[in-house]
Amino acid sequence: MYVKGVGPRRAEDLEAKGLATAGDLLNYAPFRYEDRSNVKPMSRLAPGEMATVLAEVKALHSPRFRRRDLGMAEVVFEDGEGGRLTAKWFHAEYLKTVLTPGTRVALFGKVDFDTYQGELAMLHPEFEVLRDEEDDEPGLHTGRIVPVYEAAGKVSARVLRSILKRLVDHLPPIQDALPRGMCDRLRLPSLAQALKELHFPSPQTDVRVLNAFRSPAQYRMILEEFFWLETGMALKRGQARAENGISFELGDRVREQIKKMLPFKPTAAQKRVLGEIARDMASPQPMSRLLQGDVGSGKTIVAAQAAVIAVENGYQAALLAPTEILAMQHYLSLKQIFAPLGYQIVPLTGSMSKKEKEVAKRALAGGFGRIAVGTHALLEEDVEFHKLGLAIIDEQHRFGVLQRKALQQKGVMPDVLVMTATPIPRTLALTVYGDLDVSVIDELPPGRKPIETVHRTTAELERVYSFILQQVRAGRQAYIVYPVIEENESLAVKAAQAAHEELSKTVFPQLKVGLLHGKLKAQEKEAVMDAFKQGKVQVLVSTTVIEVGVDVPNASVMVIENAERFGLAQIHQLRGRVGRGAAQSYCVLVTDKLGDTGKERIRTLVDSTDGFYIAEMDLRLRGPGEFLGTRQSGLPAFRIGNLIRDREILEIARSEAQAFVENPPSPEELAAAIRYVREHWQRRYGLALIG
Ligand code: ADP
Ligand code: MG
Repeated sequence: MYVKGVGPRRAEDLEAKGLATAGDLLNYAPFRYEDRSNVKPMSRLAPGEMATVLAEVKALHSPRFRRRDLGMAEVVFEDGEGGRLTAKWFHAEYLKTVLTPGTRVALFGKVDFDTYQGELAMLHPEFEVLRDEEDDEPGLHTGRIVPVYEAAGKVSARVLRSILKRLVDHLPPIQDALPRGMCDRLRLPSLAQALKELHFPSPQTDVRVLNAFRSPAQYRMILEEFFWLETGMALKRGQARAENGISFELGDRVREQIKKMLPFKPTAAQKRVLGEIARDMASPQPMSRLLQGDVGSGKTIVAAQAAVIAVENGYQAALLAPTEILAMQHYLSLKQIFAPLGYQIVPLTGSMSKKEKEVAKRALAGGFGRIAVGTHALLEEDVEFHKLGLAIIDEQHRFGVLQRKALQQKGVMPDVLVMTATPIPRTLALTVYGDLDVSVIDELPPGRKPIETVHRTTAELERVYSFILQQVRAGRQAYIVYPVIEENESLAVKAAQAAHEELSKTVFPQLKVGLLHGKLKAQEKEAVMDAFKQGKVQVLVSTTVIEVGVDVPNASVMVIENAERFGLAQIHQLRGRVGRGAAQSYCVLVTDKLGDTGKERIRTLVDSTDGFYIAEMDLRLRGPGEFLGTRQSGLPAFRIGNLIRDREILEIARSEAQAFVENPPSPEELAAAIRYVREHWQRRYGLALIG
């Protein structure tokens, strides 16, 4: 690409920002607009207003300050009609060569009145040198609604503005790929029109509308970005549905078996969700379903019910968990749940001995192991299933798409159920998990007492400790958790070790204090967890390894140290480790002094126990990238769309895309859309359409 004004050095900076082609640049939306269109003669300038004024340089001084040289440039301007205005710039020696006397400029800035000099003044105005007569008409950097870009390396907003002006003024004929029918129905401006208005809005546009990203041009560009993403998702869903999956039978015998195994009466939400899963499993298309449910809402039993359907049809089921602790917990609870049915449950984790693994693999390959429960070890090449019919993935957000695929490929078109207790705000569910159908358990089992959450500073730790002591005397148990900082588990382990030392020796010498972290051997972990479960350990000091899955109903206190370093969703998960029994439970968030956002984050947790609300707040306070945490989360990098600001547009894009793919206006238009998505998806969203 050759764009005037972009030499090799600038090209490098631009490329580093993902702006490699003219198309990239055209899609580089201003993040803000400034109204600099208020052009006034000097005689009518009023102090305090923002205005643009046209003037000529009369004289330029560089006054020196006594103590240090601030490189100030002081320039006197005249309008040729008796008006005078002095502008000052600090650190601006270079202006001496630009603003030579006689130069005509447009100045934009806040008008001041210098009472000492009795003159108009501007401090650090934006300026633009006017070279030709015609430049006196609305300029580029002043005298109009001006787009403000995020700088790209050394390429400033100002330079970007000039580059884009040239691009937009000499726009080559571009193909508008959006379906015509949708554009007409939604009255979207054409792509060319939208690009022009996006970068250089016409004078009558309301700047407030622009800064809310709701001008027709912005709306179109946002909708377009979401539309193609959602079209890709819709095609993917359609593709998955076209494949031949397993039709599980749902006869009376299967229902009987499910009833026989249920240890309690399912909640209405659990029943509804199982209905959705059962319908998917009975249909010949492979299931791809996301099961969301707050911590403790009872997802495990629903997954177990689904597993009964698979096993009673002669298939196997596999449950994949992100950590050893969680896998072992699942193994133990499934063993109990399935005892009445006599299924053989096979654990498979990385810490098992070679021999134990061999036994497990043989059971799965031979088919007599009905249900596999394990960690990443399940995904290894040499793990084979006799007949895998249902793949279940717990805490989906801890895994990438590839791992989901890897488990799936252990069978022939098995049904897939992914579960998460980190409630995913709908906007993210539509993008990151847009190729999945979604079920939600929005009800907790009866009899749960809401957890009481309080905020304490480190200065109040003594109080926190005496509260723990009081709870332990009443027969309860407590967790104290330290965060993993910057993905650096060893730092957290050190903090937990030091705290364990101090707590067991000086703070609670009379209690048994346990220590749990990811660096322990599997057997050591198990021993500590067992001791805690049996009440032999009263206070458990831990890193976040206990975040998911740990289930000790007698624990009633969760103390989270350095709570400001955790994501809200993560704290909510940790908090879910208590409140599992009959006793009132407490969560204590300990922090140092907090800033405003920090305070708001902690307040969100103190005020609410609703995981979905907390997730929405977390998303809003931290942004989507941070919220999802990992790179493998598959969050697309949007150019103009913003998942928080533009959620309604996302919803519209989703339903438009779905309707378009299901009911294309013509086969040619669908084919064109598929081509477009193939070409652009990978590059635009970093997602693969196939596979
Ligand atoms: P999560 O959704 O966080 O994985 P679990 O499946 O671990 O939740 O369930 C949390 C606890 O609630 C478990 O001890 C489970 O036995 C219990 N439970 C689940 N469903 C019900 C129900 N319908 N009635 C009573 N207890 C239930
Ligand atoms: Mg669970």
